[in-house]
Amino acid sequence: MKRGRFAPTPSGMMHLGNARTALIAWLHMRSSGGEFVLRMEDIDTARSRDEWARLALTDLRWLGLDWDEGPDVGGPYAPYTQSERLERYEEAFGRLQASGLVYPCYCSRGDILSAASAPHGLSSEGPAYAGTCRHLTPAQRAQRAQLKEPSMRFALPEGREVRFVDGIAGPQHFPPGSGGDFVVRRADGLYSYQLSVVLDDADMRITDVLRGEDLLDSTPRQILLYEALGLPAPEFLHVPLLNGPDGKRLAKRHGGIAISAYRERGTDPRKLVGWLAYVSGLIDRPEAVAASDLIDSFDLARIPREAVVVDVPDI
Ligand code: GLU
Repeated sequence: MKRGRFAPTPSGMMHLGNARTALIAWLHMRSSGGEFVLRMEDIDTARSRDEWARLALTDLRWLGLDWDEGPDVGGPYAPYTQSERLERYEEAFGRLQASGLVYPCYCSRGDILSAASAPHGLSSEGPAYAGTCRHLTPAQRAQRAQLKEPSMRFALPEGREVRFVDGIAGPQHFPPGSGGDFVVRRADGLYSYQLSVVLDDADMRITDVLRGEDLLDSTPRQILLYEALGLPAPEFLHVPLLNGPDGKRLAKRHGGIAISAYRERGTDPRKLVGWLAYVSGLIDRPEAVAASDLIDSFDLARIPREAVVVDVPDI
């Protein structure tokens, strides 16, 4: 049985871009008789708000999506909220540490920028970490530890390339060292997205990780974590993003993109679903349609392979 999920971060209101990913992930499961899980990725408590988490559930239901397991309905792999799963991350982190796969990093942001040898970090992160703290001696570590609480980085295995076939983006190849050694626990004790997402998807028996293409370059990191933790990796499917008229990823600054704004102004949710399906290549015209009416004809092959430029719909 296939199991998919949508995993929003409640650091803002759900918008057209997130809603479109949710719709496609939901259709991917509903059209294959799979189960759909909703998980709230509120691990970064400083950026997340309960109010936005609640709003996300309301928005998704208003769009006609439902889930078999989630924060509000429970399920066999509860809890479905990251802030309630910290013990799980701690335990796994302990295992990585015991296997010698992580090391303390004392670098500041400035150190990382000035030591950067290659501009090949994740698109969201800037330059790759140069590995400055990887080979410190115990004495050097002890000395630095007096001045600063370290973050903990996962040491990429030497010479190890990562290959996988993405269900939408096709064959992927990441040469050894891609993205650099990455943080699994921040200096303030917060576990990183990379670690929490792997444990959650594994614990929740997710078989198909369908999400936005902005996370494609996080996937090799996650594959290496699955391996290091002895967990089976799921299939990955990355959907090209929606861009605004300026060619940049659709975001708040494009204005009027919050789902709740449409809901509050009385938009027919079927019109919005129709627009989302249209810009995703699933229907030929932006006509009003219920999400459930898209299930039978859903075909991943119709999803565009490039980012789509859209105008914010006035509906
Ligand atoms: N929480 C992430 C986001 O909202 C998605 C993570 C994932 O799908 O792996 O962008």
